[in-house]
Amino acid sequence: MRIIDQLLLQNKAWAEERAALDPDFFLRLSQTQRPHTLWIGCSDSRVSVNVITETEPGEIFVHRNIANLVVSTDFNLLSVIEYAVDVLKVELIILCGHESCGGVQAALTMPDSHELIFVGTWLRNIRDIYRLHRQEIDILDSEEDRVNRLSELSAREQAHNLAQSFIIQRAWQRGQPLTIHGVMYSLKTGTLRPVAEIASPPSALGPAIKGGSKQ
Ligand SMILES: [Zn+2]
Repeated sequence: MRIIDQLLLQNKAWAEERAALDPDFFLRLSQTQRPHTLWIGCSDSRVSVNVITETEPGEIFVHRNIANLVVSTDFNLLSVIEYAVDVLKVELIILCGHESCGGVQAALTMPDSHELIFVGTWLRNIRDIYRLHRQEIDILDSEEDRVNRLSELSAREQAHNLAQSFIIQRAWQRGQPLTIHGVMYSLKTGTLRPVAEIASPPSALGPAIKGGSKQ
């Protein structure tokens, strides 16, 4: 069977099963969405947000790109954040990095002249973080450890990039409750681990930033 036919078949079975369990499920979802969370994660096929968080359609607004980067010139990402914060009023933004990230690995190992021009250009954002933490990363014994450490450092950096964005700063200034969490997903255990938390500031001194565990 072709993959498309298999996917359509599985979708039909899923829709019928959901409708049987909850006859109003699709009617409710078709009328509005009220997600509580914006998820910014990697495009990696193994980090599937609704599956790993056991959430339902309608709960999480999603943006994914290679290596879960928050780049201040990315209008695609910025429009997603703006809509999520200003219109949907999400209370939580999760920036999710993951272990064994192919994007981070490529940033560490792929030469600039690699034929994947767009991927290479995009991943320069990771290389900048690597340069900042090079000593700490290079002493690690295995490539796996180096990739995972850089992924975590990047997840924290992206969470802070997010906090510095105009959209988030504006939301905090008007008193909108909104917290940013950086997390790391382990492909080996299927678990999420917090690595950063940035809450709305109690005063005009700037956001309250907490580090996370290093493990
Ligand atoms: Zn990845």
